[in-house]
Amino acid sequence: MAYQTVNPANNQLIKEYKPHSDADIEAALGRADALYRSGWATGDITPRLNVLRRLAELLDERAEALAKIASQEMGKLIKQSRGEVALCAQIARYYADNAPRFLAPVKYPSELGEAWVEHHPIGVLMAVEPWNFPYYQLMRVLAPNLAAGNPVIAKHASIVPHCAETFAQLVHEAGAPEGAWTNLFISSEQVAAIIADPRVQGAALTGSEKAGSAVAAQAAKHIKKATLELGGNDVFVVLDDADLAKAVEIGVQARLNNAGQVCTAAKRFILHEKIADSFLAQFSEAFSRVKIGDPLDESVGLGPLSSREALETLTKQVNEAVKNGAKLHLGGQPLEREGSFFAPTILTGIARDNPAYFEEFFGPVAQMYVVKDDDEAVRLANDSHYGLGGAVFSQDIERAKRMASRIETGMVYINWLTDTAPELPFGGVKRSGFGRELSDLGIKEFVNQKLVVVH
Ligand code: NDP
Repeated sequence: MAYQTVNPANNQLIKEYKPHSDADIEAALGRADALYRSGWATGDITPRLNVLRRLAELLDERAEALAKIASQEMGKLIKQSRGEVALCAQIARYYADNAPRFLAPVKYPSELGEAWVEHHPIGVLMAVEPWNFPYYQLMRVLAPNLAAGNPVIAKHASIVPHCAETFAQLVHEAGAPEGAWTNLFISSEQVAAIIADPRVQGAALTGSEKAGSAVAAQAAKHIKKATLELGGNDVFVVLDDADLAKAVEIGVQARLNNAGQVCTAAKRFILHEKIADSFLAQFSEAFSRVKIGDPLDESVGLGPLSSREALETLTKQVNEAVKNGAKLHLGGQPLEREGSFFAPTILTGIARDNPAYFEEFFGPVAQMYVVKDDDEAVRLANDSHYGLGGAVFSQDIERAKRMASRIETGMVYINWLTDTAPELPFGGVKRSGFGRELSDLGIKEFVNQKLVVVH
């Protein structure tokens, strides 16, 4: 795919980027591998942590300019872009502060003698990342791996090359040596060749199942580790004893944040029959009041989708859902204006044989389901190929906890939307992928946990 910046608020082409050649890739791999073999990657952690600290400062200093680049390139609301940049700085600081503790040797009591596990970098990694959080997705890979000493070759989504280039420039300015983070504008075939290269030891991907399957298959073929963070069809369960006003407010946010293009967005609302009508009425009212417009306008509540293709895909999915029996409660079509805007949409009456029942809708489309009790809510929640996040709203915390432990996902939040923070592990099960990013778990994915025993 061509690497281009197109403003989705008006679909105007801003800039095209020249793709990197195989010779560029060879040079990048050479530099990354040389760095891995140097004292910088395997020696004292302090210089690496200093890069993360400086990077956090640069992110804070340039937050406004960085936010604007993201909003213009993929349509995120300016305040959400600012939030993303601030989160990136937090992640960099979190690993600067905590990586020494995470990577310290761990003692293992044993009859065979004094035993401990050390943590060493494993080598160059390939990261393939999506456009929906164009800085945060990169930071989730960079921060732990820079601290651990793994150089990273990054292939960002072809619709966010400006963010990709800007991020790489920041890492460089923060003092990272050549090879620590290399952004390449390359094809899927070139990604496959990089994964096959003996200098590369692992691959991390966030994106669709199709891309994840291709990258993980290539990694497996060459006996390398992969982590995958793929789609989700998260539930947002509202029980009969929930604080309804809060559930509505957070539910709307959970569906519309980032124009609905979040892997952990609330996509299936599961409503207890006692509160279903009331929730739906309040939710519809809030959905229809949302101000739609230019993501740079501070007063706007919903911006465009990331691209024309995203708009076409979502339109097709909604049409197909309705053709198969779903009822359009609100919205349902692209807006008649320039740019890739889709109306806030609510679908009800989705039967199990409707393709929409199992599909992920990457946009402002909420599906509503009504259940009679907690068991039915759990059954419906788990009747999905995905297993990423989920939310349960109830004022009876013990009841909500019981439900949280029965939901087959990697994350469940009680009385809050599925969120992210540097100190909390992020990832899923089933077709949502495997492995974890962030927290202590994230930094352990690509390190050699080496056992040493003194007998
Ligand atoms: P993709 O999975 O196609 O894109 C994610 C990244 O993977 C991009 O960098 C893309 O590059 C790259 N990629 C795609 N195919 C391959 C391949 N065969 N080998 C190596 N790299 C590859 O997602 P889309 O942008 O097309 O979005 C489609 C759907 O994916 C969404 O509707 C959503 O369901 C899901 N998705 C999930 C995300 C999440 O956060 N978990 C984020 C984004 C999407 P390029 O851009 O050049 O194609």
